[in-house]
Amino acid sequence: MAKYIFVTGGVTSSLGKGIISASLAKLLQERGFSVTIQKFDPYINIDPGTLNPYEHGECFVTEDGAETDLDLGHYERFLNIPTSQANNVTTGRIYQTVINKEREGAYLGKTVQVIPHITDEIKRRVKLLEEHTEHDIIITEVGGTVGDIESLPYLEALRQLRQEMGSTNLVCIHLTLIPYLSAAKELKTKPTQHSVKELLMTGIQPDILVCRTEKPINDEIRTKLSRFCNVNKNSVIEALDADSIYDVPILMLKEKLDTIVLRKLKLKLGPDPEMIAWKSFLGKLKNPTSEINIGLIGKYNELQDAYKSILESFVHAGAYNECKVNVISIHSGALDSENVEHKLKELDGVLIAPGFGERGIDGKYAAIQYVRENGIPFFGICLGLQCAVVEFCRNVLNIKNATSEEVKPRAKELVVHLLPDQVQIKKKGGTMRLGAYDCKLKKSSLSAKAYGSTEISERHRHRYEINNKYVDQMKEAGMIPVGINQESKLVEIMELKGHPYFVGVQFHPELKSTVESPHPLFMSFIEAAKKYRLSKG
Ligand code: GLN
Repeated sequence: MAKYIFVTGGVTSSLGKGIISASLAKLLQERGFSVTIQKFDPYINIDPGTLNPYEHGECFVTEDGAETDLDLGHYERFLNIPTSQANNVTTGRIYQTVINKEREGAYLGKTVQVIPHITDEIKRRVKLLEEHTEHDIIITEVGGTVGDIESLPYLEALRQLRQEMGSTNLVCIHLTLIPYLSAAKELKTKPTQHSVKELLMTGIQPDILVCRTEKPINDEIRTKLSRFCNVNKNSVIEALDADSIYDVPILMLKEKLDTIVLRKLKLKLGPDPEMIAWKSFLGKLKNPTSEINIGLIGKYNELQDAYKSILESFVHAGAYNECKVNVISIHSGALDSENVEHKLKELDGVLIAPGFGERGIDGKYAAIQYVRENGIPFFGICLGLQCAVVEFCRNVLNIKNATSEEVKPRAKELVVHLLPDQVQIKKKGGTMRLGAYDCKLKKSSLSAKAYGSTEISERHRHRYEINNKYVDQMKEAGMIPVGINQESKLVEIMELKGHPYFVGVQFHPELKSTVESPHPLFMSFIEAAKKYRLSKG
């Protein structure tokens, strides 16, 4: 049977439960345990697929096509193992299952209630991961902050599980904030005391406190927290603000978070992990030998979480190239053919981000035309590829009304269109082309060189596709389909002949980049941008 670690959050949101969970998981993995992480989100949506990025940041897609919370991206990036639908559960999904069962008559005339029916379904979902694969340890992150009305059923389920499993099989970590009051020049423990009290009211005594803080916490604070929160002093862990999220596993190792957890779970300790590969990655990340400026053109730029996986992919691939990648966020709505040169001329490469809808699309076309004509490295992801195809058809093939069905559904020249099996779909949730699909690459392509293979598999999340009716014309004019799905014959990658680096992909490579395996296309894009910068002198 797997052992369980629950991570709850107190005082405020955004303390980094996902990063703490992923860091602890990494340390346990390095010690030889098989670990996975799951996230429970208390909102009523079935999944974040229908949420605006401004609400919830990026939607992370797993191999099996689940649209999930962006924390799953951190889990994959840290652990280098894929997650699945079972790793992300929402209140919407829990209720949907219970209500469907009620309609089937599965509750045999009983009154269906939060306790035991909703809590039982939560408990079943907690253990579901164990059914799929064997794990030594499962970390469960409970979204939201203790005290939220919506998290109550999760905390009740946790209380029951703890009572059923016992404290050597289930450990509770509470992540909390120790604010620094600059006027008083003091760190304050009171919010944490209150938050633990709140947790105690649900019947849960945390075993370990992880304290986010901007200043080191001294012995006095540890003693105070230990006394008021009923936690052993050595189980009060400092989580100091770090320069990079990738420093956190090393900080947690120094604080012995993994050791304390393993002792509580009565698992074998063994020697401390050396974290050789991780430290080598950090070394390169912090000591770059070159620098480039990449423009990230999108429309959700105000919120950095909207492009989380893209930004992290640049961190991974940048570190491996020993290159500092300055990602400059550019709002596509602020670009037009008049100002595009002025706004982009200092850049060494341009990435056109994924997205939905027509807002800001003309700025994307203008940017693509500029980089295409001026030999500036270009990387288009999903909508980025679709825009590159429209721009090429308009300005090179001279199909002046070329457009995408997403932007102008009734137009004649739909060079990007809905597939017949998408036309009838009315429901928005979970109906896109989602998850991993195979793709075969043309041997001589830049992409095949980057991957070092002609057989790849990448994750998708889109409704629209390149219209095969126009592909031959594009090919003749130099826009080459170099990646094709053999089953559906859909074009997955386009490259522009004669351009130093012009690659557009229909899938989301950013979802597969990890610390240990940076994505080949991000690596090759960075190399191209470095070369371009050198060529400028
Ligand atoms: N909106 C486009 C589509 O649905 C692109 C989606 C994306 O960039 N993820 O096909």
